[in-house]
Amino acid sequence: MNSDNSKIRRSSNVGGGGIYLGIGGNIGDRELNLTRALTIISAHPDMRLLRVSSFYRTSPWGVTEQPWFLNAICEIETVLYPAALLEELKRIERILGREKSTPHWGPRAIDLDIILFRSIVMRTPLLTIPHKHCTERLFVLMPLVEIAPCIVHPETGVSFRNYLDELLKTQPEEACLKYNQIVFKKP
Ligand code: AMP
Repeated sequence: MNSDNSKIRRSSNVGGGGIYLGIGGNIGDRELNLTRALTIISAHPDMRLLRVSSFYRTSPWGVTEQPWFLNAICEIETVLYPAALLEELKRIERILGREKSTPHWGPRAIDLDIILFRSIVMRTPLLTIPHKHCTERLFVLMPLVEIAPCIVHPETGVSFRNYLDELLKTQPEEACLKYNQIVFKKP
């Protein structure tokens, strides 16, 4: 899929996972779109799919007058540096029919985000890692804690379980319900 193997894009320093992607969508067959994204990721020559959370049915955030979302988190390993990984995720979004002009927080067939990239902390005009809303969204925290219950925010040292418990004091659990058990199986 990716023919550019230059050193700028790829690292030989590959660890054992710890890269978490958020996957969501609220247009069309949501389950099919999420499954398609996972299938492309699992077949990608530069990525290895390690774990997938359950799918969660979640209320829209920001622009609330839009259909409900289906969200999940997956853990991958990759040889790509963060910026190159983002490019690949955008390419997968386009393959799955995401319009370039999708408004921020608006309806979309598929949305792929880098939530965590091992313990990397970075802020560039294109990329904020950890994802800037990762401690405030049930649809990130619920599936993340499901597959990585002990994981800690690399900047604050606070566990994501702790962020989730705090958020559940102010937001109803019904805002992010388990849609089905872990369903994705590698083809
Ligand atoms: P969205 O509308 O949510 O898909 O936002 C897309 C834009 O957010 C991308 O074009 C990225 O440049 C930017 N962005 C910043 N940080 C991240 C991140 N951690 N993961 C994905 N996109 C990011």
